[in-house]
Amino acid sequence: MASAFAHAALGATLGKLILPERRHWPYWVAAAACAALPDVDALGYKLGVPYESLWGHRGLTHSLLAAALVAAVGVLWSRLARAGQRPAAARLGLLLFLATASHGVLDAMTTGGLGVAFFSPWDLERYFFGLRPIKVSPIGIKAFFSGRGLRVLASEAVWVGLPCLVLLGLQRQLAKVQRKRF
Ligand SMILES: [Zn+2]
Repeated sequence: MASAFAHAALGATLGKLILPERRHWPYWVAAAACAALPDVDALGYKLGVPYESLWGHRGLTHSLLAAALVAAVGVLWSRLARAGQRPAAARLGLLLFLATASHGVLDAMTTGGLGVAFFSPWDLERYFFGLRPIKVSPIGIKAFFSGRGLRVLASEAVWVGLPCLVLLGLQRQLAKVQRKRF
């Protein structure tokens, strides 16, 4: 895994990019939570579920199917909000799908563990990308708050944090230009 901080940061960034209006900030938080969610499988890992199995770490919960399910549940849930306050269903669905799927994308760019079962349950193959600059985060909180955890955070700051800030900065500039035009 990349750490929960990196996943949540990318999820929140996607939230701001796809639903830029400030009143939609609860959905940025939801996107951050969705981006961290696939690592619930770390519980199974602790309980002895084999890493390489269907339900193993980076298995089914990290798949595109799981991302689609999370998005569908999220959109249904949003129906509970008042009509004027919720974003368009398609846009929200896209955000929650991309945020949840972004988890596997980051994990597939880490230096360790097994790859990500993007196409589970149909294809249990674990995939990595060619570019893998993010240091893999240890599983478990105790291991994280060690020297290794700091090194992981440093690599995530460069490879996840910076690109997120650049994208948000670009979005801001673009909005400014558009405001000037109209
Ligand atoms: Zn993960």
